[in-house]
Amino acid sequence: MTTKEKADLIKASLTMREILGMYGLTGNNRHNRIPCPIHDGKDRNFSFTEFGFKCFVCGAEGGLVHFVELYRGLSFEAALEEINGHFRLWGGYPELESAESSRNQHKKDSAFRSRRAIAKLRHDRRTAERKKEKDEKRRMTLLEELWRLDANKIKYAPESEDEPFHPLYVEACHQLEYQKYLVESIV
Ligand SMILES: [Zn+2]
Repeated sequence: MTTKEKADLIKASLTMREILGMYGLTGNNRHNRIPCPIHDGKDRNFSFTEFGFKCFVCGAEGGLVHFVELYRGLSFEAALEEINGHFRLWGGYPELESAESSRNQHKKDSAFRSRRAIAKLRHDRRTAERKKEKDEKRRMTLLEELWRLDANKIKYAPESEDEPFHPLYVEACHQLEYQKYLVESIV
């Protein structure tokens, strides 16, 4: 696995609370505010969400892996491994392969966690692809409409001053600017 894949897997499968839990930092806190473990503060200035944290005193902020980097003084790669050492999201632990029953449950939990995370990554990717396809279709529909209006504006333009306006010419004059705006807004 690449570093990025590992980081994505962590983001997809863990929450900030679980990361703080690795170091016994959340206790039974229900308001997502604790004394800052980074600058070792006394008041509850460290606020966290599912995805990250921010300290209003020392200004430390970031995502799950960055917290471990700061709190443990590790490099990004070392922080990924530290998290994996706890949650076992990917392989590289030969002792797990030959594990006895006491470890089997942990192994199953870990396999389940990984499968769930990978399924989520795939789902997110498919959703993004589908959105792209949909945007592309919409863009084509808007472009075709723009071309139709543009062509009508020329085709049905009055040839003399006293000729009554053709309804398609009127429509084109009314709609063309808005249609251009729609096309530009989606590109
Ligand atoms: Zn702080």
